[in-house]
Parts: sequence; C-alpha cells; structure tokens
Amino acid sequence: MASILVAEDLSAVGGISLSAAVPVLTAMDYQVAVLPTSLLSTHTSGYGRPAIVDLAQWLPQVFQHWTAAELDFQQALIGYVGSVELCQLLTTYLQAQALDLLVVDPVLGDLGRLYDGFDADYVAAMRRLIAPADVILPNVTEACLLTGLSYQDQPALVTLLTQLQGLLKPGAKAVITDVTQADKIGCAWLTDGQVQFVGQPRLAGHYNGTGDTLAAVLTGLLGQGHDLKTSVTLANQWLNAAVAATLAEHRTDARQGINLKPILKAILA
Ligand code: ATP
Ligand code: MG
Repeated sequence: MASILVAEDLSAVGGISLSAAVPVLTAMDYQVAVLPTSLLSTHTSGYGRPAIVDLAQWLPQVFQHWTAAELDFQQALIGYVGSVELCQLLTTYLQAQALDLLVVDPVLGDLGRLYDGFDADYVAAMRRLIAPADVILPNVTEACLLTGLSYQDQPALVTLLTQLQGLLKPGAKAVITDVTQADKIGCAWLTDGQVQFVGQPRLAGHYNGTGDTLAAVLTGLLGQGHDLKTSVTLANQWLNAAVAATLAEHRTDARQGINLKPILKAILA
C-alpha cells in the first residue's frame, strides 16, 4: 500500500475537498494521511459565512511530530492552503520528503478572480509551492494568476501552458483543468510543445467539488503508474459520470458536492 499525504481544507458539510479525496484515494488502495489546512463548518459556496479554525499553530506541531516519528510519505496532493504562512510551512516540509509524486492544485481563484482573502503575496507563495511539484492542476484563472497573463475564459493555451511550464522543474507538467473546447470540458497540457486536450461533453449546471475530486482521482491514477494521458482520460470519464449521476438525482439543494458513487464503482471495478 502506498502512502499519500493529502493537505487541503476540511469542510464539515458540503462533500468537497478532503471529504471527497479521502474516499477516492482509499478506494484506490492508498494509506491516506489526512491533513486539514483549515477547518470550516461548511464549504464557502452557498451556506453563508462558515465558522473557520485557522490551523497555523497546529501544522508546525504536526510536522515536528511526523519528523520525530520518522513518518515518510511516498506521494502528496496539496489543495487549498489558505495563507502565505501555511504555504511556506508546507513548502519547507515537502522539501525534506523524498516524494515519488507531488501534485499541487494551486487553489487561488475562479472565473477570472482571486478568491476572497488572497492577494499578490499569496500568489507568490503559491509559485514557491508549485516549484518542486511533478504535476500542477490550475484552472484557467489560476494559470493566468500564476503566470501574470491577463485572464480570458478561452485563452491561447499554448502561450499559457508554455509560461506555466517555465514555473516548474524540468519534466514536470502543468495541466489546466477547466478547458472548454466546442461542447466539451476537460484538461489541456503540453507534449513536445503541442497542446493536448482530453475532455467529455459538458453537462448542464455548475457543481461544487469537481476540481477537488478531479485532482484526487488524477493524483491516484498517476501514483498507480498510469501515464498522464491515460490518467486524464479516465479522470474526465469518471468525473463526467459523477456529474451525470448528480444531475439524475434532481437535487433541490445544489450545494452538496458531486455524487462520488460512479467514481468509486469505476475504481473498484
Ligand atoms: P474548481 O472551480 O473547483 O477550482 P476547476 O475550475 O479546476 O475546479 P472545474 O471547472 O470544476 O475545474 O472542472 C474540473 C473537471 O470536472 C473538468 O475537467 C471535468 O472533468 C469536470 N466537470 C466540471 N464541470 C462539469 C460539467 N458541467 N459537466 C461535465 N464535467 C464537468
Ligand atoms: Mg472552476
């Protein structure tokens, strides 16, 4: 069993981020170290203002304990972090780990805007956090913020991806996760300077947690040794099935994250 460290927010209600990553990676046979970077009573989309506990005091103690206990992780997935201080703590801790795979979803914003509470210093801290990554999973907004290119919802992908690659170590890959091409939504990356795109039909509606879940699925598949194209293709198929299952529920409350059952079934099949 491979061990994986997953660090992102724990939102008690809403079924996204850690709540989605843990079942997915557990089904994929990982031993998951579940590290909340902050605690929230709900996620931040539609429930009003959540009660939040900042874990900046706790995280250094966790890393100290793990180091003393000689706990090592083979892989890591970093999602929402939340402050410059925590980004720096994670960057330092990860430097001391001999990881086979580090995936960073550089959560910064969406729809062309930084999320509330983030600023240019936070973007700079995120650039340092992605520098040692093997794979990063920005959406178009995050790709623009990281590179400093101005936001367009249909960006020139070759330019954006080339500049993103410049922020990464040799051999690492930037994968943009919310690319629209014709009627499809999917992911784009560069191979030998050429844009690769894999997607699935865009289904009606907007769903919470699709980006987080995609990151967990992709990390798990890559960690199992699948190549990037296979991993992105499977991840998009499974995400599409999860969105379709969510739609089929005809939910009256759209706040809960997507239905994970099709993903878990596909993993265990
Ligand atoms: P987030 O906004 O959570 O940061 P993101 O912007 O990185 O995430 P999303 O737009 O959530 O990315 O899309 C991530 C993946 O989820 C897509 O690549 C696709 O596989 C799937 N997905 C998202 N929305 C839909 C949809 N409406 N129909 C089908 N698949 C979807
Ligand atoms: Mg998005």
